[in-house]
Amino acid sequence: MNVKELIFASRNAGKIAEIKDMLSPLGIEVKSALDLDLPDVEENGATFAENSLLKSQTIAHYTGLPCIADDSGLCVEALGGGPGVYTARYAPNRDFDKGMDKLLTEMKNSPIKSRKAWFCCVLSLAFPNGRYELFEGRVDGTIAEKKSGTTGFGFDPLFIPDGYTCSFAQMNKEEKNAISHRGRAMKKFQNFLQHLKGADELEQSF
Ligand code: IMP
Repeated sequence: MNVKELIFASRNAGKIAEIKDMLSPLGIEVKSALDLDLPDVEENGATFAENSLLKSQTIAHYTGLPCIADDSGLCVEALGGGPGVYTARYAPNRDFDKGMDKLLTEMKNSPIKSRKAWFCCVLSLAFPNGRYELFEGRVDGTIAEKKSGTTGFGFDPLFIPDGYTCSFAQMNKEEKNAISHRGRAMKKFQNFLQHLKGADELEQSF
């Protein structure tokens, strides 16, 4: 396996750091929209898969190179599975501290008292010729009554994964990556890559 470089269509520093940590053990260098001048892509799909593909296919077409993208979000039972694909826009001005306060208030006012929630991630790999692969990951858990922890990003301080008593934001990055939605999608992608011998084969495998 000697795929050396992939473009990750994201400007989210938290996600970029996680993806780099997951792919560097495979010797893959990740370049993102923070390193390269890439166009913004409007995420107007109805599903995580549609939004993920909108990003990876647009950037693969623009750069002429294989590209990965992810779309992820938090789904909360008391909010009918929302904010889901709208998670990034749910937080006022993308201020996730305010976003978490908003979530706690909405849950308090919801007739459904369940605190069940899950994070979803769909990672896509797109080629300039239009071919693609999708890798999905999910982690189930509950929404805590108050924020705790300082690591990670987004809604991590409120999310307690099933089987744990601490939030994602109280875990170190290895612990979170081992069970997170993005980590699980990435594991599927790593398995896919490990069955290929190199970038040429990656291209030819489609
Ligand atoms: P998008 O995938 O860029 O559309 O953004 C999804 C949003 O979901 C992020 O901005 C975060 O608020 C939230 N999110 C996705 N993954 C995580 C995670 O691992 N921890 C905390 N929040 C997350």
